[in-house]
Amino acid sequence: MITERDNKLLTMNSITSYFPIEFSNGAVWEELDGECKSCKNTLPRTMVRGLVSRPFPNVAVVDAVGVCDECKLLTRYHLVPSDLTNRFKQRNLS
Ligand SMILES: [Zn+2]
Repeated sequence: MITERDNKLLTMNSITSYFPIEFSNGAVWEELDGECKSCKNTLPRTMVRGLVSRPFPNVAVVDAVGVCDECKLLTRYHLVPSDLTNRFKQRNLS
């Protein structure tokens, strides 16, 4: 079921507009690949919409929804990565 919150997120910018996200230690999160919860395909980046907030310089909170064209299903993403993890691609800033 699609909630009011989902509808609101769907009217927002494509999540790519927030990327790359830089953390206080110089780590960079290059991009978010949203996966459909049903078919596991990666959704086109323009289909994943929502918000990224930065409560702290080393934390990014991603709150987004993506719609899969094939399944007509909505997948919710709530990610709170911090620069303490290394699950994201990093590059050195020069
Ligand atoms: Zn799908």
